[in-house]
Amino acid sequence: MKKKIILLCMLAASCALSAQRLAVENSFARPLGDVLNEIQARFGVGLEYNIDTVGKVLPYAGFRIRPYSVDESLAGVLAYFDYAFVKQADGRYKIKPYEYPRRTPADGRKMLDYLNTLYADREAWEARAADLRREVRGQLGIDTLLKQRSGARPIVSALRKFDGYTVQNIALETLPGLYVCGSIYTPAAKGRHPLIVCPNGHFADGRYRKDQQQRMATLARMGAVCVDYDLFGWGESALQVGAAAHRSSAAHVIQALNGLSLLDYMLTRKDIDPARIGVNGGSGGGSQVVLLTALDNRFTAAAPVVSLASHFDGGCPCESGLPISLSCGGTNNAELMAMFAPRPLLVVSDGKDWTASVPELEYPYLQRIYGFYGAAGRVANVHLPTEGHDFGPNKRNAVYDFFASTFGLDKTKEDESKVTIEPDAALLSFGPAGERLPKDAARSFEAVAACVDKKLHAKQIADQALEKKAAGWVEGLGLDKEKQAAVSTLVYNHLKQVRDWHNDHPYTTIAEGINPFTGQKLSKLDREMIADSAMPKAVHEKLMKGLRNILTDEQVEYVLDKYTVGKVAFTLKGYYAIVPDLTAEEETVILGHLKQAREQAIDYKNMTQISAIFEIYKTKCEQYLNGNGRNWRQLFKAYVDKRNAEKAAAKK
Ligand code: ZN
Repeated sequence: MKKKIILLCMLAASCALSAQRLAVENSFARPLGDVLNEIQARFGVGLEYNIDTVGKVLPYAGFRIRPYSVDESLAGVLAYFDYAFVKQADGRYKIKPYEYPRRTPADGRKMLDYLNTLYADREAWEARAADLRREVRGQLGIDTLLKQRSGARPIVSALRKFDGYTVQNIALETLPGLYVCGSIYTPAAKGRHPLIVCPNGHFADGRYRKDQQQRMATLARMGAVCVDYDLFGWGESALQVGAAAHRSSAAHVIQALNGLSLLDYMLTRKDIDPARIGVNGGSGGGSQVVLLTALDNRFTAAAPVVSLASHFDGGCPCESGLPISLSCGGTNNAELMAMFAPRPLLVVSDGKDWTASVPELEYPYLQRIYGFYGAAGRVANVHLPTEGHDFGPNKRNAVYDFFASTFGLDKTKEDESKVTIEPDAALLSFGPAGERLPKDAARSFEAVAACVDKKLHAKQIADQALEKKAAGWVEGLGLDKEKQAAVSTLVYNHLKQVRDWHNDHPYTTIAEGINPFTGQKLSKLDREMIADSAMPKAVHEKLMKGLRNILTDEQVEYVLDKYTVGKVAFTLKGYYAIVPDLTAEEETVILGHLKQAREQAIDYKNMTQISAIFEIYKTKCEQYLNGNGRNWRQLFKAYVDKRNAEKAAAKK
């Protein structure tokens, strides 16, 4: 007895403790906005909000504030909402939602320190680089796309001649029906030239902007062939797939595909020297430089501008849409760029964006890797501490100098004033409204989705088939257009929900067990039926309510018969064959059962399941007949015997 009391006391005490831990009645909760205001006042700091604090309440609010540290206080308060803060150059704190592609320079340093422990020499580094190359390809899914390329010859415009260079527009079909459009700037002088592939970033006006044309044309005047091209969903690509396509993860791999496909084509030109292949881009174009060089070994010189960092992957779906930074347990753009060693590399950075860390962090890291090859001198950093995020004159000059020395270009031709800036329309292959797009060109993102995401496309195809099925069923009702559309939509939505529920809840989600009716182990079909029967009733009710609102009772039955391939009439006919003197009353009861079976069966996906539902109700019908003074087994046997006798007679 005593023992029992002690045990109860201990239980009570531990309950009281856990209650204290978990739920003091008010949890010391305060509105997030108030807590942040307190932090501002207490530490005398300014906060900038990139989040909405309305309605957000923070439990144990005051306990999260550390009187000795604004940073720790903010971290403690914001972690609850998965928000983060970034200290601005002016000392203010910007509060923002968690962003997976963006970390802090401190994180960048820790990551590079960690990565440096993975390789102490060239051999270890090359093993890591080989793994990275393979995994980046896999994360991106680039090989699947490369296999699907159309291989068509590009559509090129007439040459436009300018002072020391020509410009020609190019539209290259990459995936069937999908074009990448760009412009090729070629030196006027004859001979073999180096090539510089220039992926574009997200600067306003894309590749049509003035400083882009200045750079392409100046490099061409200096002796290099340059090719630039639209981002996926930008420029002429928007006419094909829409601007929203750029915000899909497909942009990441399709842009890589575009760059590699243009490289392949350009290398078929007789005037290109395959020993001198450069790649250069700013901002998002710099992210493309990292990606293209990681994917293809043919590049011999690279220059990412205001882009490369160990703590920021880019943040646009075309840079971070696919998880390449998760390769080999975690990597970043600095490590991916290091795979370019020992080939000549120029990193241009500035003081006012995330590349401010390059001289301290990324450049020394790159030099270490280049050092494995005794080539630390082949990686250069031009850092512009007073400049911001653009492709301004000093950045362009750094690029001109780099390619002049690496590819032996003519520095005396470095004069941007000689460049003719063309209007946007001149740089288009298909015209401002796409009026010259080929007949078989894709006109929507969905049209190319099959190449990118097989699963998504398979679902689209399956949806289309269901849509057709629903429309076909409803057509026979001879409704007016509006009603026909409404009923087709009801049926289509129901069919789709039944299919999706079935596919999302396979029989394996139901535990093995015994069927209470048969005493046997549950079959696969049993488990499938149990899983499907859990679909919310609302799906069924919405269809039936909608049908009954629009259609007559007879028409509703017509639709249900379509679902169940006329099983009600067919089965009833069977009962008449077996029970020739079926009474009107018996028919009413049997028909009632069969109609119940029909309405239940429409919520199952395939014919085997639909038949299984009818079997349940047929058993009920037979039990009813037995209870009504009939002997079902005898009737059925007599029917079979009669059929066999008829068959035997027919054979004679
Ligand atoms: Zn982008």
